[in-house]
Amino acid sequence: MALNNPDPFALARLSFSSLDEYNAYWARYPDFLREAWLSHESLGDRESRFEQRGWCDLCAKACGFSATPEPRHDDSRFSFGVNWWQNYFCDCSLNTLERSVLRVLSDDDKGDKVIYHVGYHSKFRKRLSERFENVVATQYEDGRRPGEVDESGVQCEDLTQLSFGSDRFDFTICMEVLEHIPFYDKALREMHRTLKSGGRAVLSFPWLGGKSYEHLVRAELLPDGQIRHLLPPEYHGDPAKKEGILSFRAFGWKILDELRQVGFSSAEAVYIFGPFHGYMQLINPVIVATK
Ligand SMILES: [Zn+2]
Repeated sequence: MALNNPDPFALARLSFSSLDEYNAYWARYPDFLREAWLSHESLGDRESRFEQRGWCDLCAKACGFSATPEPRHDDSRFSFGVNWWQNYFCDCSLNTLERSVLRVLSDDDKGDKVIYHVGYHSKFRKRLSERFENVVATQYEDGRRPGEVDESGVQCEDLTQLSFGSDRFDFTICMEVLEHIPFYDKALREMHRTLKSGGRAVLSFPWLGGKSYEHLVRAELLPDGQIRHLLPPEYHGDPAKKEGILSFRAFGWKILDELRQVGFSSAEAVYIFGPFHGYMQLINPVIVATK
């Protein structure tokens, strides 16, 4: 039956609960991984913006996916490359990461789910609120009490000490936030506490990928409040802060063990692959942890 429907069943979803599982899979299918890599990297090796026709599984229609390559400064064999994860936009203006998160949400066919989105001021959050009825979105603001509502009516929350009661959400979406929280284990605990049993945290962050188990620590917050930089500081764009925010780390596979340690019954790295549907690569996963 799925053969007659171009969306979304044609997408491959690979999920791994550990680096060992991931390694075992790729040891079994090395040629597939190499070809998947070669096909998107050679496609992106050109100087100017281009568009690929395809089928968006979320818009459920034909569309163009646009990519803007950037010069490569590494010793890669390619002179230009596309950041397929965050720069491959569907007509609906969502990038691959955002579409992957929505795909994970849409795979769950439970009606009326209560979704918590960490962050208010983003285009993605607006799209989420249009698509789903029960979306709670909050914004972190320095110096605000958890639960306080700011002048523009936005609820402020600190992910390490949420004002929400326990067992409240079916989904928590936290994209590109955890790398900015020095003691992110507290945030994992709070997400676990506020999810219902069977609820899911859907996460993304800078991913070391490949064979990296340990995180890459870029900076640490010292007890006296100073920041010690172990690597050149990296700042990420933030819709709520012009100057950007410091990234403390990039994550390795260890995060899956850490999620299970705080009580999640399962944690997996989910890779969605379907080049015709705009999911070009098998490098970045979304992390899905179930309470
Ligand atoms: Zn779309």
